[in-house]
Amino acid sequence: MHEMGVTESMMDVVLRHADKNNANKVTRINLVLGEMSSVVPYSISFYFDMLSKDTVAEGAELNFRTVKFKARCSDCGKKFKPRDYDITCPKCKGSNTEIISGREFQVESIEIN
Ligand SMILES: [Zn+2]
Repeated sequence: MHEMGVTESMMDVVLRHADKNNANKVTRINLVLGEMSSVVPYSISFYFDMLSKDTVAEGAELNFRTVKFKARCSDCGKKFKPRDYDITCPKCKGSNTEIISGREFQVESIEIN
């Protein structure tokens, strides 16, 4: 994932919400970050400082909430934490599994003035 593009999308969401709510200032941005998303918080902060300049979001605090990497087996319903990228079900050894969290990067909420 490219942090610059990711931060731009994040800014779009934030500014759209801020505008819709007639915000004078965005004070805090709560973000959900999957532990396997490959997004680096430091880079997001860096690009955010750059992109938020002269917008209502300038100076807002970024709060990252990390979401664990989890998968679920469609055959037996077992939820588990995959080891590395191996998402074989530890219970029934099936491979009919899906990742349910851990890859996301999204804006959860924003706080405005
Ligand atoms: Zn299973």
